[in-house]
Amino acid sequence: MKGLFPIDKFKKIQTPFYYYDTDLLHRTLHAITTEANKHEGFIVHYAIKANANPKILNVICQTGFGVDCVSGGEITRACSVGFPTNKIVFAGVGKSDWEINLALDKDIFCFNVESVPELEVINELASVKGKIARVAFRINPNIGVHTHANITTGLAENKFGIAMRDMIPVIEKAQKMTNVKFIGLHFHIGSQILDMGDFETLCNRINELQDSLEQHHIKVEHINVGGGLGIDYKHPNRVPIPDFKEYFDTYAQHLKLRLGQKLHFELGRAVVGQMGSLITRTLYIKQGTAKQFVIVDAGMTDLIRPALYQAYHKIENISSDEAKETYDVVGPICESSDVFAKAIDINKSHRGDLIALRSAGAYGEIMASQYNCRKLPIGYITEDL
Ligand SMILES: *Cc1c(COP(=O)(O)O)cnc(C)c1O
Repeated sequence: MKGLFPIDKFKKIQTPFYYYDTDLLHRTLHAITTEANKHEGFIVHYAIKANANPKILNVICQTGFGVDCVSGGEITRACSVGFPTNKIVFAGVGKSDWEINLALDKDIFCFNVESVPELEVINELASVKGKIARVAFRINPNIGVHTHANITTGLAENKFGIAMRDMIPVIEKAQKMTNVKFIGLHFHIGSQILDMGDFETLCNRINELQDSLEQHHIKVEHINVGGGLGIDYKHPNRVPIPDFKEYFDTYAQHLKLRLGQKLHFELGRAVVGQMGSLITRTLYIKQGTAKQFVIVDAGMTDLIRPALYQAYHKIENISSDEAKETYDVVGPICESSDVFAKAIDINKSHRGDLIALRSAGAYGEIMASQYNCRKLPIGYITEDL
């Protein structure tokens, strides 16, 4: 699929770099908006932690999405590209005082609160400012999902959220406080979820929780189900856009929203994952004893997902049409885990070839580090080239 990439333009750019296909981003955003808008009360936020490149954020901001932040830095970034502050939700187990104060000053839409001590601090800091903070509680629904162990978040053993049995006392506690207003419930069960049954399980769990809230006459205006919809890492060409219809329809079918309730989503990977590729160059072909290596100029400092959780990224040699050979594709970093793939077949590679690591738009550039005193990779959108 070399046709996907402006190779002649790539040749002039210092590798490694990220390339973002703006056309695919627009088509993905359009699919999300179209499918979400078919349902009354569905509101989409973008989980900025997936990719906070300002050029990408500009495009997403223009669709009218809200934004899901997990740090003060993300709130600042979101504001600087123009996301309206009243569409910001702020999650995270460990919010610092300065971050809470920043969010209060910005009058964000909602704090997704993950513990009682945090609730108390928000109430205290809000009272100093004479403000009332809107809060939702992140409930840990104790659901195991079918994804990688390091990216499940909704199990009782995970650090996230408030246990279900504590939900009602915590809400009642908040209702007695002077400077917080309870407005909703928040959930996020994990990432890279492709089995709609997992989201269905979450819906059923929320339905049960809503029943018990009703018995306690607790009114909930907002339900936020987080993100987690996965992308097809194996087939970025065949499935460039996730099945948003199936995703939103699952919630519409299984979640029993009460009258006037709004349903919020916080999608990250599914929005930006497929539009990005890490473009790198072959430095050397090295013959090992039982295998051969393609040594490229990108490493785990540019894209850490394979080293961090054995994530798969499709790799293509976009400079060559030669017959395929089997290689380990490795980076230059002084760590044995700096391996992008083992024993994969790509077109025979030579020094200078451009290599694309596909589906790298989410949790790629944003997780880059300067280990080994390396430069951070630059992210280019189609219009930049
Ligand atoms: C990471 C995260 C998301 C986005 O997850 P994706 O899998 O990228 O969709 C949404 N909400 C919260 C609270 C998160 O921590």
